[in-house]
Amino acid sequence: MLAYQHAYHAGNFADVHKHLTLFAVLQYLLRKSSAITYVDTHAGRGLYPLEAEETQRLREYRQGAAAVWAAREALADDPLLAAWCERLGDVQSGASTLSHYPGSPWWLANDCREQDRLALFELHPGEATHLEAQVLPPQARRQHADGLAGIRALLPPATPRFCALIDPSYERKQEYTDVAATLQAVAAKVRHAIVMIWYPLLPSGRHHDLLTAARRSGLRKLWRSELTLHPPGEATHGMYGSGMLLLNPPWGIDTQLNASLARVASCLGDTASHASQWWVPE
Ligand code: SAM
Repeated sequence: MLAYQHAYHAGNFADVHKHLTLFAVLQYLLRKSSAITYVDTHAGRGLYPLEAEETQRLREYRQGAAAVWAAREALADDPLLAAWCERLGDVQSGASTLSHYPGSPWWLANDCREQDRLALFELHPGEATHLEAQVLPPQARRQHADGLAGIRALLPPATPRFCALIDPSYERKQEYTDVAATLQAVAAKVRHAIVMIWYPLLPSGRHHDLLTAARRSGLRKLWRSELTLHPPGEATHGMYGSGMLLLNPPWGIDTQLNASLARVASCLGDTASHASQWWVPE
């Protein structure tokens, strides 16, 4: 049964980590004109009004997008963060406060050109209905279906380039290894695929199932980035950090994101930090 609804967490520090990484990759891909197939395996609603009852329940955006937004003038010397904040500004109803936070379908659709394709999968019936209501370009195809099966069905892609975001809710323990198996299946069919996987850092340490399986798959060019609110030992419950595992990250993205995410961490509190490493096969 699907219970997770992203509206409760919209704009939190994990969204900032995930969408800034996604945005950096998209800006790199746009440098060439050859067509790209984008896949968002777990799309969610697409756009989140922060005044929504669900979002107001936890107000996680305050230690996330709103903190970065409030610091945007001080962050303007970082070209990636400046461009990201400018894009975020496009969906705000007023200039000064953050009223909306865009989800991954919006970030992807915004950079989707005529020659590109975008496949959005969402399995939760209610969330799929919200996604259906979003105004998206005609290249965006929405499917109320399982994203991990859906991405496999799209292989090999009809375009020269392929880029996927895999962002499950990890409601089932099994999802960590399912995601690793999907990564391997995609890489086997599209060697140059860029795949971005989001994972939560929880006291249970379940993300190690994903990371270990990815490492054992023998895939090269895996880069791991983690943004943490506080050190793991200090968390007894709840998500203390956000992880991104990237297959075939574009050249230079690691340096760029290391610089920008250190600045993001400085907006999130005294104990927040960012670390990254190339994930070498075992
Ligand atoms: N990617 C979104 C973003 O960045 O804005 C957030 C996605 S949220 C973390 C995960 C979403 O995946 C939820 O909306 C959930 O309903 C959906 N979901 C769960 N299992 C799924 C599956 N097997 N296939 C597709 N969607 C699924």
